[in-house]
Amino acid sequence: MTEGRRRIAYVLPIYDEEGNIPLLYERLRSATDGLRDRYDLEFVFVDDGSRDRSLELLRGLRAQDPRVSVYALARNYGHQIAVTAGLDVADADAVIVMDSDLQDPPEVSLELIARWEDGVDVAYAQRRTRDDGLFKRTTAHGFYWLLSRLSNVDIPRDTGDFRLMDRRVVDELRRHPERNRFIRGLVASIGFRQEAVLFDRDARHAGETGYPLRKMLKLAGDGIFGFSTAPLKLISRVGGAMAALAFLWTIYLVVARLVNPESVIEGWTYLAAGMFLLGGIQMLMLGVVGSYLGRIYVEVQRRPLYAFSVADAGPPRGA
Ligand code: UDP
Ligand code: MG
Repeated sequence: MTEGRRRIAYVLPIYDEEGNIPLLYERLRSATDGLRDRYDLEFVFVDDGSRDRSLELLRGLRAQDPRVSVYALARNYGHQIAVTAGLDVADADAVIVMDSDLQDPPEVSLELIARWEDGVDVAYAQRRTRDDGLFKRTTAHGFYWLLSRLSNVDIPRDTGDFRLMDRRVVDELRRHPERNRFIRGLVASIGFRQEAVLFDRDARHAGETGYPLRKMLKLAGDGIFGFSTAPLKLISRVGGAMAALAFLWTIYLVVARLVNPESVIEGWTYLAAGMFLLGGIQMLMLGVVGSYLGRIYVEVQRRPLYAFSVADAGPPRGA
């Protein structure tokens, strides 16, 4: 390591990627060849409990290239946790997070770095096109639509976790202790200068997706529930609407009873009106419980209240 040079770390989560590791490393190495004399590079591989030969291959890389670091999680914790672990151990001025199946082309990271040099704190790679199946495309589209409607943070569409983050963003991210992590949402909520870099997302090179539907739904849930209490607020809205309708319904029933007593059975008006009114009130009360729950939820997430982008105080430096 040379003093004064800036450090860039690549964080690469690995789950059963034995078919991709050799090519990934090759592509990374050649793509970053031109950076060698400007930066100190580190390739942080985080093995997320792979069941195949991935860890062995990574050890082999480490033996031949000292810029490679290998961390293996004790079991499969999931992609977001693996990335978090990588961000925690990476000690660099900028960190690039990338998928390891070559869907995120290593060459694009050079553009991310160029943006960072222009003063951007988060350069996130946004898909211009994606080479995924129809199912993945439509569900992803629906998810981002819903998320943008529900959430109060502006979470960019068509972006995965492929991005470069300046050290200060990574430091902020470390201050977010929540367990159900939706990293791209957290990064978006942190702030600083964030810009998109468009790219064409390739198809997975080898192996299978480590994101079956179950994990995808969990991630979608973390995105929506982690960044919106709108579903909870929905309860009181439905309750309010029901109570209001029940009120109108009651008026109608009473009028019907008075105007045309034969039209309704004895005692029915009372029962019917009471049932709807009670239902509405119960929902409304549930919504009250929900609003407290929503607050408790936001409190236990223990997110930092703010991040400074400038903190320039005290005696001037060098004075
Ligand atoms: N991954 C991981 N742990 C998991 C699942 C996936 O670390 O439990 C890694 C995987 O090796 C890849 C990245 O996360 O580098 C994205 O996963 P994948 O390509 O399988 O997801 P998809 O692109 O299909 O959404
Ligand atoms: Mg993939």
